[in-house]
Amino acid sequence: MSSLDTDTLALHGGRPVIGRSFPPYRSLGDEERQAVLRVMERGVLSGFVGRDVPAFEGGVEVRALQDAFAARFGAKHAVAVNSATSGLYAAVGAINPEVGDEIIVSPYSMVASATCALAFGAVPVFADVDPETFCLDPDSVETRISPRTRGIVVVHLFGQAADMDGIMAVARAHGLAVIEDCAQAPGAVWNGRPVGTIGDIGIFSLNAHKTIQCGEGGVCLCHDDELALRLKLIRNHGEACVGSMGYARIANIIGQNYRLGELEAAIATEQLKKLDALNAARQALAQRLTDNLREQVPEIIPPRVHPRASHVYYIYPMRFDAARAGMSREVFLEAAAAEGVPLYAGYVPPIYREPLFRRKIAYGSKGYPWNLPDRPNPISYADGLCPTCEHLYETELFWTPLVYPPLTLEDMDAVTRAFRKVLDHAAELG
Ligand SMILES: *Cc1c(COP(=O)(O)O)cnc(C)c1O
Repeated sequence: MSSLDTDTLALHGGRPVIGRSFPPYRSLGDEERQAVLRVMERGVLSGFVGRDVPAFEGGVEVRALQDAFAARFGAKHAVAVNSATSGLYAAVGAINPEVGDEIIVSPYSMVASATCALAFGAVPVFADVDPETFCLDPDSVETRISPRTRGIVVVHLFGQAADMDGIMAVARAHGLAVIEDCAQAPGAVWNGRPVGTIGDIGIFSLNAHKTIQCGEGGVCLCHDDELALRLKLIRNHGEACVGSMGYARIANIIGQNYRLGELEAAIATEQLKKLDALNAARQALAQRLTDNLREQVPEIIPPRVHPRASHVYYIYPMRFDAARAGMSREVFLEAAAAEGVPLYAGYVPPIYREPLFRRKIAYGSKGYPWNLPDRPNPISYADGLCPTCEHLYETELFWTPLVYPPLTLEDMDAVTRAFRKVLDHAAELG
């Protein structure tokens, strides 16, 4: 056995299948550089004023970004904000819940997808996810509806469109607002319609980790004029504007500053032009990995794309069949990482396990808004609440970020060889 031994597991001193690190994802180029210089020459880094004046709408770059987003996705209104988190908070305020109203959310997402309910005194209620698409399961949503339910936040997780037919059917039957968290899925479609334009408000992220980015930023889409106005009021010190605007429905628009800067907006406009090409590159890499796994690695279940959905592969999620592999997910991940494949177990813990939810401490220390006197049933955040999510997190799901340009189809083949090598050593590892 030599140090160049390719059959011995890298974990046990053999040569790794992939002996180099992968290049990072980089979507920024000369177009963004030129856009930044254009803004610098103009010398105005924000065009916002928090009063009822034309500058309430923001600067030229913000408005250009909004126009480009609205046109690209086919929405009447786009409202740019300084993060998707801000966008989610503003969306909850825009749909105008009463304090103590319930909003049904996914436990399997970035925390803001659930915490946003609390931003305006609403209570997050978790429904379970689909075991194959990892997005909210409409049947589980239905079981969580109460007389206090006001809305649903659906997340298009990992880049796949959630079952919007099912979600919209539940929402319509019960008169609920639908907020779409599209942070991971810009450009994904459900049944021919872009995500973010199917529910009442769709929110996109432009943070540095996302497919298109400007450092920090976000955009909300909607078709309804009043929702758009409420989003803008929440973005920009609404309480200082509603009086002179003569806007009467002033609940839930207290003074936030979610305004996006001109530099970020100019960068984001250039990034949006690249979205389709970036998504196509991701889809080609993911398709190769999926084909490889189907043919060569039956122990790993590739992501299932619903026939009516498209997937833009912000990341590439897989499920591990431990019984078939003869080893645990954790043993596999450790050995595969040694072969040079960056892999991560579980995504994030079910959001209801975070202390804020478990202890129901969000505002002050008395349990508001869960403890309001007119709430008949206590809200549960106990283990067992969403068994599919818990199972995916604890034992089945793992993911790789490796489906981005400039990686190649050959890189996907190398990843597959690394998986095969580890699994062929099951007797040794199990
Ligand atoms: C990244 C992300 C967010 C938050 O985006 P920010 O722009 O960083 O606030 C929200 N939801 C999901 C699903 C995300 O992946």
